[in-house]
Amino acid sequence: MLAVRSGFCRACGRDHDDGDVRCSHCGWDVVPLPAQAFGAVGVVHSVRRGLRRRLAVRVGDHEGQAVLLVEGGDRQSVPHDALPDVAKLAPTNGYSARSSPGRLLQLAAGVSSGATKYKWQPADLHAAAVAVAGD
Ligand SMILES: [Zn+2]
Repeated sequence: MLAVRSGFCRACGRDHDDGDVRCSHCGWDVVPLPAQAFGAVGVVHSVRRGLRRRLAVRVGDHEGQAVLLVEGGDRQSVPHDALPDVAKLAPTNGYSARSSPGRLLQLAAGVSSGATKYKWQPADLHAAAVAVAGD
């Protein structure tokens, strides 16, 4: 049988009980971060455009539709039930950043540094990250 490990304090490393809000040893905030702190913003989708597929990162929601920033800079609003597939190769999907601003900034950093060849403008990604963080 698998032992379920309870949470631990990220400041001092001691275990704590589920439901604790502060570490009993050092007082650090131990409330777990929600896995998707800002919802699905920052998730990268694969959009079909004619014969080609392009990547589009979700940068927000507007009037009940998801707003996607397509590589190259176009924005496109898509009903939630018509969102294209989540891209499998995108660095932000299932990767380390745990918030939407984090995912967008991670993507921007990849483009800026040349580590990825995606065709977004880092400035557009930065602006989107700021916008969602300011909500
Ligand atoms: Zn602690």
